[in-house]
Amino acid sequence: MTRLRSYGCLAIVALIISACPNYASAWHDETHVAILKAAGYDKWFNATGADMAKIKAGKKEAHNHYCNQARGTVVTPQTVLRQVDLYNKIDERGHLYGAIIASLRDYTADKRQGKYAQYHLAFSGHYVSDLSQPLHNTHYGSFNEEHHVAVDGIINDDILDNLDKIRIYPITITSKEELAWEIARIANLSLKLGYKMEADNRLMTKEEAYGQVSHSASLFKAILKFVGQ
Ligand SMILES: [Zn+2]
Repeated sequence: MTRLRSYGCLAIVALIISACPNYASAWHDETHVAILKAAGYDKWFNATGADMAKIKAGKKEAHNHYCNQARGTVVTPQTVLRQVDLYNKIDERGHLYGAIIASLRDYTADKRQGKYAQYHLAFSGHYVSDLSQPLHNTHYGSFNEEHHVAVDGIINDDILDNLDKIRIYPITITSKEELAWEIARIANLSLKLGYKMEADNRLMTKEEAYGQVSHSASLFKAILKFVGQ
């Protein structure tokens, strides 16, 4: 391949990446693993599977990982429940909140049929982790685009050595509706922080990041209990 042609290919790849917001980004691997470890999930090593699936399934999987909400939006349990049937569908707005519940629904259905269902639970844990990344919840504008990768990696290098900084607090879930309420609560906290960062034109602090992942770990711990794990 000539140098000119290879530059041409690079330009096309760059164009494709820039046209696909959130396509290749998420909390980085160690952060996902740490959240599921802190939640007490015995198969924490499956935490990154949902990101691996993106490179094969493309948008069908990628749109489960974020939900771009405009400034001033309040996420309600109804918002969450309306997204459940969008799971694994192509919808550029993203449907992260519904994906958490839909993957749990698949876990329960497969388990009931005696199938190996753990991968569905790991998908759900991954989406619960993405829920606390503020820029997975806010509008994908220039601020989000410019800072997304830096925020994804903000505590990645040291989180596995600092699991004690992930602070689990009690959450009780006894129904799908209560789960939707908890998802909406954390989504709103993430949205608020994401738009505060944008207003201040700054990244989040490490302390804020540990606070965020603590919400994810606490919720997934409650989910594990809810599904009898
Ligand atoms: Zn993700």
